[in-house]
Amino acid sequence: MKKIALLGSTGSIGTQTLDIVDHHPEQYKVVALSAGSRVDELVVQANKYKPVLVSLATKDLADRAAPHLPSGTRVAYGEQGLIDVAASTDADIVVTAIMGSRGLPATMAAIEAGKTIALANKETLVTAGHLVMKRAKERGVSILPVDSEHSAIFQCLNGERAQTVKTVTLTASGGSFRDRTRDELAGVTVEQALNHPNWSMGAKITIDSATMVNKGLEVMEAKWLYDVDYDQIKVLIHPESIIHSYVEFVDNSIVAQLGLPDMRVPIQYALTYPDRQPTPTEPLDLAAIGKLHFREMDYERYPALRLAFQCGRLGQSAPTVYNAANEIAVARFLNGEIAFLDIERILQQVVDRHQVCAVDHIDAIEEIDQWARSVAAKV
Ligand code: NAD
Ligand code: MG
Repeated sequence: MKKIALLGSTGSIGTQTLDIVDHHPEQYKVVALSAGSRVDELVVQANKYKPVLVSLATKDLADRAAPHLPSGTRVAYGEQGLIDVAASTDADIVVTAIMGSRGLPATMAAIEAGKTIALANKETLVTAGHLVMKRAKERGVSILPVDSEHSAIFQCLNGERAQTVKTVTLTASGGSFRDRTRDELAGVTVEQALNHPNWSMGAKITIDSATMVNKGLEVMEAKWLYDVDYDQIKVLIHPESIIHSYVEFVDNSIVAQLGLPDMRVPIQYALTYPDRQPTPTEPLDLAAIGKLHFREMDYERYPALRLAFQCGRLGQSAPTVYNAANEIAVARFLNGEIAFLDIERILQQVVDRHQVCAVDHIDAIEEIDQWARSVAAKV
């Protein structure tokens, strides 16, 4: 039986992870859960799975949950609560389904504790990929991708030697506004931006898909997970989201991974790797689909992706700044404070104001992250 700790259990990835658990109850035991502010949902989950530990964002929320928890379940809160969920139980695997760079300390704690990481929380690798990967290697900890593109690449690379990889191509659906020109983006609403054509996901990643920042974060995520150069990473628009990504080898052979867009496939693969099992998902019928479409990425249309490549290539503190500025810009857009196109303007301005420097410790990452947040909150 695999013991699972789940960070972000009430979110899109979190609930789909629990759905996988429900389909294979003999194989998984949920030992720890964490959520932000959705107390009622967390209480329901705790009574169903009876974990030893749950955590909420604040002490108030934890106090509200406490009387309703099963007798064997302890409740924690805040950053320390997240760290405890990630590292203080006997979990074998930690699913990081929390949003944003706030997942970093808990992920590092899980690595210290020798837990396998099923990584959905891409912001952690973007903001501190060099530190996370180095420590995981030192501790002999596997970081298994949950993101569909990275799971695809992982599956394509199975058993191949790194030297034989020519390029990796991340496919991009194009997000909510893929059929609009830049001029047509001026007055778009939050509601329109949240309406993703292929995937039902948390609010932040849905906005990131519309700005193409999500693909930018994924480019950096791929760099760290697969140790490829930025010149080897390509992005291709593929509106159907059937080919989840592919690898081209030195002999020009291309290996791709296909399936209907359903996150439960990559989530489960991270849980069962290197094994495979049936999933509660629909099979792909290519004859029924008939056609797949592809278009070249347009970096004028999606300048935030171009900026992501620039920040990735600059390295050091630049990706931390890109990620933190984006987290704030997206929150401001979702609050109705700024327009959609202001997200990328804010990103560019915060990156322009930043003097790139070395970040060789988590505290340094934290400091730069806070600086970028404070600037992004004002511009
Ligand atoms: P979501 O917003 O649906 O869920 C986020 C979870 O984090 C919720 O359980 C929420 O309660 C919890 N949370 C929020 N604030 C918290 C806090 N202060 N302390 C503790 N927990 C807190 O997000 P999501 O779409 O599930 O995405 C989660 C991560 O997975 C993101 O990094 C995203 O980029 C990545 N991801 C998501 C998808 C997807 O299909 N949703 C696909 C690929 C990668
Ligand atoms: Mg993805």
